[in-house]
Parts: sequence; structure tokens; C-alpha cells
Amino acid sequence: MSLTIAEALKQATTQLQAVSDSARLDAEVLLAHVLKKDRVHFLTWPEKPISELTYKVFLDLVNRRVEGEPIAYIIDQQEFWSIKLRVTPDTLIPRPETELLVLEALNLLKEDERYKIADLGTGSGAIAIAIASERPLCTVIGIDQSRMAVKVADRNAASLGLKNVTIRQGDWLTDFADHSLDMIVTNPPYVAENDPHLAEGDVRFEPSSALLAGPEGMNEYRKIIPEAVRCLKKHGWILLEHGYDQQDKLLDLLTAEGFTEARGIKDYAGQPRVIIAHT
Ligand code: GLN
Repeated sequence: MSLTIAEALKQATTQLQAVSDSARLDAEVLLAHVLKKDRVHFLTWPEKPISELTYKVFLDLVNRRVEGEPIAYIIDQQEFWSIKLRVTPDTLIPRPETELLVLEALNLLKEDERYKIADLGTGSGAIAIAIASERPLCTVIGIDQSRMAVKVADRNAASLGLKNVTIRQGDWLTDFADHSLDMIVTNPPYVAENDPHLAEGDVRFEPSSALLAGPEGMNEYRKIIPEAVRCLKKHGWILLEHGYDQQDKLLDLLTAEGFTEARGIKDYAGQPRVIIAHT
């Protein structure tokens, strides 16, 4: 006997409630993925039966979620800045907080200027691609040290047909010439190695090379910031995403390295999250 859409969703939701705060939504997203339909489509047809094979594939995905695997890795996809990005376990899953960094960058980038921008540690390409899509005259270069991440980001940029974004493998700013950039944006690894949050939720499945940055989570900023001074043009901007307890340390570090007017911005949850400064 086959199940209806409504029954399959109900069973999966019950199963997912043990592990997820968004059990019903998770179930809907997974079923939509299996049926290759929008959630709206099948919510309109709750009485429609699903085949046994479909149900089996769906249950496999539900079980992976029950084991804690992030939804984004199960469906290989995450929406960011209303762009559908492919994500794999080689890349961090783009977070809504990081959209704040994009928003602040766009506020500084006039639509009719041809700025050159680098996104350091681009991962899936989220920040680079979002900025490039909003500012067609700008050139955006996404850098990542991981060859696998570069492949993912490259594919994301290509699937959107964006001509003004390039993805390259590299070690932060090593390959950039002095005073060649108008803006640097980055969401680098910033989690402290012993942070207890690493044992919870999605981060357990994400690449540690994209998360961890020494005992205080500051190691990568200490490499990036002096290099940023070298690579930025006069009055060039840096925008950094950071952890909840790093804003004061970073403001000091930026000022010590020669940046001016460094200011912190809180995210929608009221946490200090982004810093903007210029040379
Ligand atoms: N925002 C991620 C978290 O909450 C960390 C991302 C990073 O290290 N860049 O764990």
C-alpha cells in the first residue's frame, strides 16, 4: 500500500522532531527534493499517493537528517541572497548572517564604478557571486585554498552565467599585487579550536579548514589584515565577518595595522558580526 504525500510528511516529521527544531520544514524540503517539485506544488496535492520507490528514497534522506547531517549537504543546495548555490561537504554552508556582509559591501559599491574586489576563503562562492550579480561592472575574484571548494564555486559562478567573477585557488592575498584592490571581503575561519559549539549541529559536518583558526579563532585574521593593507588601494575597504566575541580584538588589530574608521555592525540577532574599515 502506498502512502499519500500528507502521510509521508507526517511520519517523517515525527521522526525528525527528535533532532530538529524545524522538523516539518525539513521533511517538506527533503520530499520536494525527491519529487523534484516546489514545496508549494505538493502541499497543494496532499492526497496524492507517492510510489514505494519514492518513499524509500525519501526515508533514506530523512534518516541521514536524523543522524544530524545538514539539510544543505543532503540536497547539495543552499539559498543565499536569493541565489541557489550548490554546496558540498568541501564548503561551508552559507549562513543568513553572511548576507549582512554582502549588504554592507553593496552599500559601499556605487553601481556605475568598476571596482576590483577579492573575496577571501570564498567556499561555495556565496559572497563573491552575490556581489558580482548585483554589481555587473565590478570584477570579483573569489580565492580559496581548497581545490575542491574552487571547483564548487566555479561551477556556481558558471551556472549563473556571471562573467565578472573569477574563482582561483590561492593562499589569501599572496598572489595579489600591491595596491591593486578596491575592496576585500571575507568570512574566514574564525572559530576557536576548543569552542564547545563545534560538537553541535551543522558545524560537525562542515570542513574544519573552513571553521577553525587557532586558540582564539584569530589566526587567519592575523594573516589577512597586514596583507590587506599591502593589497588595497588608497581608501580601499575591508569587510570582515567574525565571531560573537571577536569584534573588540579585531577593531584594535585593524587600527594597529593602519586601517581607519573601523566600525562594527550587529546582525539581525543583535550579535556583533561584521566589521568595516578602510585604508
Ligand atoms: N558562522 C560559522 C559558525 O557559526 C563560522 C563560520 C566561519 O568560521 N567563518 O560556526
